[in-house]
Amino acid sequence: MRSISIFGATGSIGQNTLDLVRRDRTSYKVTALTGGRNIVQLIRDAHEFRPDLVVTAFPELLPELKDGVSGLGIETTAGDMAISDAADRPVDWVMSAIIGVAGLVPSLNAVRQGSTLALANKESLVTAGPLLLAEAAVHGAKILPVDSEHSAIFQALLGEDISNVERIIITASGGAFRDWPQADLAQATPAQAQTHPNWSMGQRITIDSASFFNKAMELIETKEFFGINETCIETIIHPESLIHAIVGFKDGGMMAHVGPPDMRHAISFALHHPKRQYLDVARLDFTTIGKFQFFAADEKRYPALRLAREVMRKGHLWGTAFNAAKEVALDRFINCEIGFLDMAVLVEAVLCDLDRAGHLNTMPRDLQDILQADQSTRHIARILNV
Ligand code: NDP
Repeated sequence: MRSISIFGATGSIGQNTLDLVRRDRTSYKVTALTGGRNIVQLIRDAHEFRPDLVVTAFPELLPELKDGVSGLGIETTAGDMAISDAADRPVDWVMSAIIGVAGLVPSLNAVRQGSTLALANKESLVTAGPLLLAEAAVHGAKILPVDSEHSAIFQALLGEDISNVERIIITASGGAFRDWPQADLAQATPAQAQTHPNWSMGQRITIDSASFFNKAMELIETKEFFGINETCIETIIHPESLIHAIVGFKDGGMMAHVGPPDMRHAISFALHHPKRQYLDVARLDFTTIGKFQFFAADEKRYPALRLAREVMRKGHLWGTAFNAAKEVALDRFINCEIGFLDMAVLVEAVLCDLDRAGHLNTMPRDLQDILQADQSTRHIARILNV
């Protein structure tokens, strides 16, 4: 029986992970489940999966959580420190699926325990890639990517030597506004940005898909995780979302990973690696699909991609600041304080500000340096007018 913990259990990735665990209950002992504000779901999952511990990120919700699981003998805690402590409990496998930089500490603690880390939280790599990978190496922890593109690249690289890789292409669906004229984008509302054409995901990543900030994060994630030069990483719009990534080798051959747009595939791969388990997701019928389409991703229309290139080139604290500014820009868009196109304008303005002040070009020594840069970036992003 494998012990597992799921951080962000109440979210889209967390629920898909529990769906896989549900199919094979006797193979897993659930140690910790964490959530945020969705206490009803967390209580429901606690009743079903009987973890040792359930944690909410928000202390004011602890009484409701306690109430909901009373009599089950399940420990309940709350707050960021409690989530960090939960990740200190040694288990065989950890799903890191909290949204945003709040997922970084659980990811780090998990690898420090030597657990296998299934990494959905891309912010961990964008914000602190070198630190996370170094800690994993020191503690002998395996990291398995869960983002569909990175799982695809990982699978295409099995048995391959990374030095033979010439290029990596990650695909983008194009998000909610793929077919919108550029002139209309300034008026796009949060509600309109929340409808993804192919994938069912959490609210924030769905809006990030529409703005291409999600793809920008994934470019950086690719560089950090696979250690490949940024000039070899490309993105292309593929409206069908069936090819998730393509790896090109120096002999001209390419390996494309094809599968239905269902996150359970990538999660199942990470859960069972190095084995594969039967999974009843939809099978593709190429005769009905008919064609795969591809379009260039225009960096003028999607400035987040251009900013990601700059971040990849510059390294140091640029990834940390990029993510923090992006998270605040997204909050401000959701709260209707700024427009859809203003998100990229704000992120760029914040990065310029920090760069001018010389705050981005030092190598972070530890988690503290990273969290400090994250906080000071957020402060500027909250007050800057665009
Ligand atoms: P969701 O918004 O659906 O879920 C996020 C989870 O994090 C929920 O459990 C939420 O709790 C919890 N949470 C929110 N805020 C905090 C906080 N401050 N501290 C601790 N926990 C918190 O996100 P997704 O599942 O869509 O995405 C999760 C991660 O996976 C992201 O990094 C995303 O980029 C990545 N990812 C997601 C994909 C997808 O298909 N959804 C695909 C590839 C990557 P609650 O809901 O209870 O408030």
